[in-house]
Amino acid sequence: MAKIFCVANQKGGVGKTTTTVNLAAGLAKVGQRVLMIDLDPQGNATMGSGIDKRRLETTVYDVLLESASVTEAKVRAEKCGYDVLGANRELAGAEVEMVALDRREKRLRTALATVGAEYDFILIDCPPSLSLLTLNGLCCAHGVIVPMQCEYFALEGLTDLVNTIKQVHANLNKNLQIIGLLRIMFDPRITLQQQVSEQLKAHFGDKVFDTVIPRNVRLAEAPSYGLPGVIFDPAARGSQAFVAFAEELVQKMPPASALAGAAPAPAPMAPPPVAVQDPQGL
Ligand code: ADP
Ligand code: MG
Repeated sequence: MAKIFCVANQKGGVGKTTTTVNLAAGLAKVGQRVLMIDLDPQGNATMGSGIDKRRLETTVYDVLLESASVTEAKVRAEKCGYDVLGANRELAGAEVEMVALDRREKRLRTALATVGAEYDFILIDCPPSLSLLTLNGLCCAHGVIVPMQCEYFALEGLTDLVNTIKQVHANLNKNLQIIGLLRIMFDPRITLQQQVSEQLKAHFGDKVFDTVIPRNVRLAEAPSYGLPGVIFDPAARGSQAFVAFAEELVQKMPPASALAGAAPAPAPMAPPPVAVQDPQGL
């Protein structure tokens, strides 16, 4: 059975989409069968996998409204080595249309039940909100991968996310847990990033992935070529880090059956008293 992970963080621009497409490509590279689901109406993960969102006839929108199955709606990202259940602007309407429907937060979960055996990993790129779309992702997942930049406000947002995950765990999905925090866009020369990184490790322990994704311009350039960095420039430092992350995940994760019923997350942390270095000494 596939292990189903959401890549989530309610902040925008923290690297969710970059993580999802590069992890998908990295997992495919190390021999895993991967389905990447784009749950963000912006469709960045779809475009970033080389699928033109404007030309897609069936998307995750049709799956959520039960007018298509996952098998019917998925497409192959040939160069990337994984399948894509894409999204485009139409998905923004799903939020409103689903409100009146029954089982509205479990629609994706129901749909994925039929394809679980075809994949080793299903990765879900979530929008930057705790909306009904994100809730659909959280309801069908075994866990959440949280990409975060090591800066002060990142920690503040983390508290909200941890609380949401606990609520979903308590009320809707007993399997849901934090799989790990991924430090992304990391620059070791910045003292504050090092400090936040240390505090994350102190508080979350082995929930912080060993792999760190560096800030790397090749990862930022790749989407304009319709490719994950891992495929666009495999030799780039950022790409190599994502392949190492894929390997870490494959090694650490037990089978999907063993992922059920774990504690959702360590206690949320208050924003720690990081001493911001003042370069002027003022
Ligand atoms: P989100 O999906 O959370 O909104 P994105 O993955 O779209 O975030 O990333 C936001 C921006 O940061 C994008 O322009 C992306 O190319 C860039 N980016 C993400 N990760 C890195 C990285 N490791 N190094 C450099 N740029 C990055
Ligand atoms: Mg995104």
